[in-house]
Amino acid sequence: MNSSLAVSSTLRIETYTLGLFAVHTYLLWDTQSKHAVVIDTGLNPTAVLEKIALETLYLKGIFHTHGHIDHVEGQAAIKQCYPDVPSYLSQEDDFWIEHLADQAAMFQMETPSGVKIDHGLKHGDVFSFQGFTLEARHVPGHSPGGICFWVPECHAMFCGDVIFYQSIGRTDFPRGDYDALMSGIHSQVLSLPDDVTLYPGHGPATTVGHERQNNPFVLRHEAKL
Ligand SMILES: [Zn+2]
Repeated sequence: MNSSLAVSSTLRIETYTLGLFAVHTYLLWDTQSKHAVVIDTGLNPTAVLEKIALETLYLKGIFHTHGHIDHVEGQAAIKQCYPDVPSYLSQEDDFWIEHLADQAAMFQMETPSGVKIDHGLKHGDVFSFQGFTLEARHVPGHSPGGICFWVPECHAMFCGDVIFYQSIGRTDFPRGDYDALMSGIHSQVLSLPDDVTLYPGHGPATTVGHERQNNPFVLRHEAKL
């Protein structure tokens, strides 16, 4: 099921829930300039492509929060339609792309073909489009190259599998790190105002304020500081 949300007078976010792990693919666009970006690419993103065509959007980039298979497996389908649109992933997660076949085997999934990363991402990178900007914030721990994208114009953060509604990302994968994840959540996510909406890789959207007050992992970590 998809839901479209007006998040400012000109910005829209549409959420597509795709694939075996019900990962969210987000389409963010400005209704005036029609500039758009895709954040993460779940399996079979046909509806995303249809929406881009329907709204006559200019797709400017494909941004990956991290390299886990469910967040990248639909990328080739988008690249096929938009071969010149650049894709981005932290270089620290390149090893996940190199081992897509192993990831697929682990979950008895098909190995996605044609996933291609054009550019690395690092903490502090800012991508400016007409009507909105994405600021990359590095939060390792769920994966070493985990990136959250902060969009100040609509008080939104796309946080991948860093933090979920009253939960956090797994840290039992290779190169996972619980302490790094919690300290990244503290410094890069909870440093934002309470009314910022968090759009995670799975499950319902939430807010910084709600997680500050109700997330058991956050509460435990903050109590120790
Ligand atoms: Zn993940």
